[in-house]
Amino acid sequence: MTTLTDANNTGRGNGKRSKRVLILASKLGYQTRGFVEAAEKLGVEVRFGTDRCHQLENPWGDDALALHFENPQEAAHEIVTAFSGGVASEKTIDAVIALGDRPTVTASYAAEALGITGNSPVAAEICRSKLRQRETLRAAGVRVPDFFSFVASDRLADVVARAKFPCVVKPFSLSASQGVIRANNADEFSEVVRRIRLLMESPEIQVLREPGTDRLLVESYIPGREVAVEGLIDGGRLRVLAIFDKPDALEGPYFEETIYVTPSRLAAEVQKAIEECAGNAIRALGLTTGPVHAEFRVNESGSWVLEIAPRPIGGLCSRALRFGADGISLEELLLRDALGMPGSDLERESQASGVMMIPVPRSGIFDGVEEIEAAESVPGVTEIQITARLHDYVAAWPEGSSYLGFIFARGDSAAEVEAALRGAHARLQFRFSPRLAVEHPATGKIAT
Ligand code: ADP
Repeated sequence: MTTLTDANNTGRGNGKRSKRVLILASKLGYQTRGFVEAAEKLGVEVRFGTDRCHQLENPWGDDALALHFENPQEAAHEIVTAFSGGVASEKTIDAVIALGDRPTVTASYAAEALGITGNSPVAAEICRSKLRQRETLRAAGVRVPDFFSFVASDRLADVVARAKFPCVVKPFSLSASQGVIRANNADEFSEVVRRIRLLMESPEIQVLREPGTDRLLVESYIPGREVAVEGLIDGGRLRVLAIFDKPDALEGPYFEETIYVTPSRLAAEVQKAIEECAGNAIRALGLTTGPVHAEFRVNESGSWVLEIAPRPIGGLCSRALRFGADGISLEELLLRDALGMPGSDLERESQASGVMMIPVPRSGIFDGVEEIEAAESVPGVTEIQITARLHDYVAAWPEGSSYLGFIFARGDSAAEVEAALRGAHARLQFRFSPRLAVEHPATGKIAT
């Protein structure tokens, strides 16, 4: 039995250097703060690498290393230059953790170059491209939707002729369901492609300098129940930390997330099949270590992989997970795992728990939210965090990718938790105002 006291013996004050972890993230916010808190508790030093801003010197006062995740090998080289002091060095990094999809490839190149544990860069690269991931899984006999890809400049009539309906069209490398749209027939397909092309050409996406923004993936639409699996990989073997049911229908045309509830209410043998499918997918992709977040659809044909990502669950959602008798956070569990400290084998608590990512009902300027107290008073609700910034423009899906906030609930059963989340959401009153249209003085074009 693991004792967490052992793990808290960090070497501080006994002459040993404390462990140091490098966290790579595009956004420094709630999720990174969770790691800072866990690291403080463990006596671990945290350094950050981010691509959020290259113009200013240390604008957030956290000494984050400025990196370009769209060029992972170069970014890894920067990391090695900053931290390659050898075992005895004050600057040595003991582990690298990537948050969000963008830094995963950089993390694996950096781990390889630093000689520390990480996934192979090839595996991370395959996961990062929705097309390459599908190709690899299909070749290994793992159940994935039928798919083909095309270049935006291809003649649309030729592309439509290849599509079978209903289908889902998506960009290669965006996240959070941004730009993922269902099409039920040829007319819808043309409109969907036009809309995704516009999104991919927008300054918000172009600034990311992701490769392959001119290519789209078309997949058969898989009906069924959707689940998310949170896991830890050790020596290529998957340990499932939680299976979250997604009790909303998620039938499109857009696919913003809403409710996640664990434990899953699916039959034990269905959960076992999902676990097996996840294990096979991870082996096929060549992932060997660290956190994994995966999405599956389940229907009468079995479990279908929608996505496998070598990173933990995003945003604030990790707050829905607690482990062991002390209820340690996912961030602490991941730090313990990455640094080889005892305690990473703790099981999720037995209580049911869930989170609702609050979707954006319509694009506009976010003018505030009423009735938070009423929502917080719904039995079972433990926390409501509104993360959208007041007076900022928020985009609804499929163009959007940020939630208005998060509602958390706990209870004796998954059904109770789901009801609490729905009850709280129904009470919240969000206010929006339209973004004013501005006519460009030179072109006369209307920008909204
Ligand atoms: P992202 O990485 O941006 O989240 P995904 O490819 O995981 O993109 O798709 C986001 C969501 O869209 C999924 O969670 C699912 O609800 C829906 N979706 C995507 N592909 C399919 C598909 N082939 N069939 C049915 N639903 C899909």
